[in-house]
Amino acid sequence: MHFRIGHGFDVHQLEAGLPLFLGGIKIEHDKGCVAHSDGDVVIHAICDALLGALALGDIGKFFPDSDERYRGIDSKILLARVVEMVVEKGYEVSNVDATISMQRPKLRPYIDLMREKLSEVMKIPVERVSVKATTTEHMGFEGEEKGVSVTAVCILGQTK
Ligand code: MG
Repeated sequence: MHFRIGHGFDVHQLEAGLPLFLGGIKIEHDKGCVAHSDGDVVIHAICDALLGALALGDIGKFFPDSDERYRGIDSKILLARVVEMVVEKGYEVSNVDATISMQRPKLRPYIDLMREKLSEVMKIPVERVSVKATTTEHMGFEGEEKGVSVTAVCILGQTK
């Protein structure tokens, strides 16, 4: 079987009073991501990993933030579309592993909910979806709660 590896990275600023969506789940918090879409930085990093694995470009190429059609869009719709592209290219998602860097709130209670939601959107078993979270020990923009960053990697396997 032929495999492709992909890597994605995304950052969004945090602002008081905005809703926070991570991995397709609404998180209870006093800040949310500033974004053209719903700001789901986890999904954006995963989309870029999947697109990167096939050298197709990045999320901004397919869903530009200058396009009014994507204003406030649920990022799960973007991920579902990217997975369709993967399938159209003759690949399946073998696994995805994402790491969220965020100081607050504690994400542990949401991790398995995110994994389940992401597996549902990507149409793969939850065992193939990993989401992890770390603080940055109060250092940098994540630690100062100015923003959140996410890295993601994936492996795609050729199906035909
Ligand atoms: Mg983004």
